[in-house]
Amino acid sequence: MTKSAQAADNQFLPEATFDNTAEERTYLKSRLCAAFWHFASLGFDEGIAGIITVRDPEDTGTFWTNPITVPFAHMTPDQLIRVDGATGLTVEGEGVVNLPAFSIHAEIHAARPDTQAAIHLHTTYGRAYSSLGKLLEPITQDHTAFYEDHAIFDDFTGIVFDRMEGKQIAAALGNAKGVILRNHGLVAVAETLDAAVWWFTIFDTCCHISLLAEAAGDPIALDDEVARLTAQQIGNHQVGYASAQRLLARAIDARTQVGGRS
Ligand SMILES: [Zn+2]
Repeated sequence: MTKSAQAADNQFLPEATFDNTAEERTYLKSRLCAAFWHFASLGFDEGIAGIITVRDPEDTGTFWTNPITVPFAHMTPDQLIRVDGATGLTVEGEGVVNLPAFSIHAEIHAARPDTQAAIHLHTTYGRAYSSLGKLLEPITQDHTAFYEDHAIFDDFTGIVFDRMEGKQIAAALGNAKGVILRNHGLVAVAETLDAAVWWFTIFDTCCHISLLAEAAGDPIALDDEVARLTAQQIGNHQVGYASAQRLLARAIDARTQVGGRS
């Protein structure tokens, strides 16, 4: 399905459309910066961890991402780099990528041609929940976005530079929108960057809620039938895309107010 056809299908909120790939690339780079500003505002920028990859609309084996040295809050389109999925080498822009993290994303994007974006950040609640080694139970409406739509990768063996771990994580993810990397953190993917931003944000929030609820008592999960129905209502791409709009608008506004370049 073409991008325009997808946009026409989205009755909930029309998606951005483009006349050519150059226009789409410019848009995606500015949108990617807004995503970094958003996650910076949540405190998700930590050390040299954390990566967002966005598939180039023309050279689809390459991905726009963050150079390892630039803080999320400082990101501007001219600082983004384009990295080859097969080699991990920077093919446009200045700087290098976090190679272990990129290798995971490259394998996910290779296994999932439907994914425009993948997000992996070292968040407090995502990491804490990941240590439990279990899926999220559908204990709130928001959790159902991940009902039967997230997975666990439970074979962490340290930071690995070869591609095998990335292939295994991609296999664990399957067709889902997210995977919990046990003892490591969260990965979320989507067919648009905007939706990926939303899924990652609430993936972490759901981990937070589950930690709170399980610490306080024995949370009651929704019945499978209700969880499945609610997942269809709020777990689809249109809702993910629409829900990200306010987050990203807020990040862009905050950036403008402090006089930053966008
Ligand atoms: Zn990581």
